[in-house]
Amino acid sequence: MAEEIRLTLPDGAEKAVPAGTTARAVAESIGPRLAKAAVAAKLGAEIVDLDRPLERSGPLEILTESGPDALQVLRHSCAHLLAAAVRRLHPEAGIGFGPSIEDGFYYDFAVPRPFTPEDLERIESEMRTVAEAGDSFVREEVTREEARRRFAGDPLKLERLEEIPEGEPVTVYRCGAFEDLCRGPHLPALGRIRHFKLLNAAGAYWRGDERRQMLQRIYGTAWFSKQDLEAYVRRLEEARKRDHRLIGKALDLFSIQDDVGPGLVFWHPRGAMIQFQLRRFIEDTLLERGNSLVYTPHITREQLFLRSGHLPMYAENQFPPMAGGADEGEDVRYRVKPMNCPAHILVYAAQQRSYRDLPLRLSEVANVYRNERSGTLHGMLRVRGLTMDDGHIFLRPDQIEDEIFELLDIVELVMGKTFKLNYRLDLATRPDKKLGGDEMWEHAEQALEQALKRRGATYRMDAGGGAFYGPKIDIKFDDAIGREWQGATIQLDFQLPERFQLEYTGSDNRTHRPVMIHRAIYGTLERFVGFLIEHFAGAFPLWLAPEQVRVLPITDAQLGAARALHLRLRAAAIRSHLDERNETLNYRVRDGELMKVPYLAVVGGREAEAGTVAVRSRGVGSKQDVMTQEAFLAMLEESIRARALVP
Ligand SMILES: [Zn+2]
Ligand SMILES: [Zn+2]
Repeated sequence: MAEEIRLTLPDGAEKAVPAGTTARAVAESIGPRLAKAAVAAKLGAEIVDLDRPLERSGPLEILTESGPDALQVLRHSCAHLLAAAVRRLHPEAGIGFGPSIEDGFYYDFAVPRPFTPEDLERIESEMRTVAEAGDSFVREEVTREEARRRFAGDPLKLERLEEIPEGEPVTVYRCGAFEDLCRGPHLPALGRIRHFKLLNAAGAYWRGDERRQMLQRIYGTAWFSKQDLEAYVRRLEEARKRDHRLIGKALDLFSIQDDVGPGLVFWHPRGAMIQFQLRRFIEDTLLERGNSLVYTPHITREQLFLRSGHLPMYAENQFPPMAGGADEGEDVRYRVKPMNCPAHILVYAAQQRSYRDLPLRLSEVANVYRNERSGTLHGMLRVRGLTMDDGHIFLRPDQIEDEIFELLDIVELVMGKTFKLNYRLDLATRPDKKLGGDEMWEHAEQALEQALKRRGATYRMDAGGGAFYGPKIDIKFDDAIGREWQGATIQLDFQLPERFQLEYTGSDNRTHRPVMIHRAIYGTLERFVGFLIEHFAGAFPLWLAPEQVRVLPITDAQLGAARALHLRLRAAAIRSHLDERNETLNYRVRDGELMKVPYLAVVGGREAEAGTVAVRSRGVGSKQDVMTQEAFLAMLEESIRARALVP
């Protein structure tokens, strides 16, 4: 008699089965429908093959074609299918890794030349042929000796094999003629993979290490239904059209230049105007709410970051030190600052502080520099030169709740009321390894949660997800095509006030230690503007649009009247441009539309005479509204004042 194991099903029912029973058998005993829909199983936290004998007790969930775990199994299985097809067409191809990733999978191959789009087409059609044959995935535990023999022609696999710790089983999965060194799990058979597509191929270093060989990585996606696949491909197409690097170039917003270095953004006049308006908005908002603006040096003596603990801990993310002045001594070294916190702390510490001075809110839209690896940089979304809307609040522990409440109000004003973003708040609480007493943590976490509750905010708990020096609230939001973005963070900090021995005099006349909050609303202007470009697909709302109105005389005869209107708009602080080029009206209208100018103001003979203007709004086609100049101006001013999203 085999030993018995006890499985707890999601509905709470317990099932005792002999050890070695497969998840498939369990599914069949529950019902034929479930068995048919099953793709894999989850025993505790581990996802296992449907046909894998279960050897231990625990919660068991049969995974069907819904949910992220099942998709992950499908996608990884599809990576095997890809490798099988590549091996059939390119028998010489060496194989690397083939994991599932968000929305898809990839597989790395060692091949003599990069894959072309035609190669991908052939490989995809070969994948269909192999999938239709419908071979099962067969799992086999082998000895190391046996694995070495089977993968003798695959040095990358041999390297991986050597890393599997002694005592851990070495498993090989075979389907048809293709076998791979892999831990699994997989679908029961290739026939379950029907809705997939190869997306592109790109060079990738083996294990992401630029000193190792360059492999060719093929990316693909796989879904359980045709509709899901089609919807994803459409979303991808939409995302490609919205790529901020393409739109940034087409609209002349920014550039990144090789001569200067990767991750360093040049804000062109149009992009700079967007940044300027965002800064103005946040700085006005902060000033209305009792913040003070400060400006602090871009470089500081290195010892500041030793004291803050950023060195040597984060040394690899900082640019190397530079020498000080000739009279400062050889051991004095300077660093360009990677963050503003220590500088703001010095502003706090420059004065004797009393409990009446708190909260002290210091704000600075500041440039900091981080030595990110060049391979991780991406347009404006991941840069080395960061413009942060940074702020640090020094306060008494009893002020935490009200301060967080206020900060959440600013988040709501910017993300919710102004940009109408669907955003989420995650409350991350104390991790195992932490600084500061439980009492302090308890108080701070309760204050954060209380503030969230008072606001009526929906939030998720990220238990244990806080930094070791304090709990935090993370902000995430969705863009226009449903992608989730990581926004700014409101971070409590018990550590830095300690390290810098910050103090204030309490009402009891004794000295106390303040708490500190790091906060940003946009995060970095680079990333936020990159996000906005993709979110709006370059069609910025009027208040942010670099060029708000383009004035177009129909012929030279109206040039004088058009110029007068242009100057009138400019005097009212409207960003107007007069297009007096010697081109047809159609051509100039088309150009204004391509540049996503919110309003084209056409001045023909009739308008010149009557003091009116024919207004074409962005996104409504060729419809024109003839209105008085006063009405036009009033409409613009109202939209800007309200920071309206349309047009
Ligand atoms: Zn695998
Ligand atoms: Zn900070």
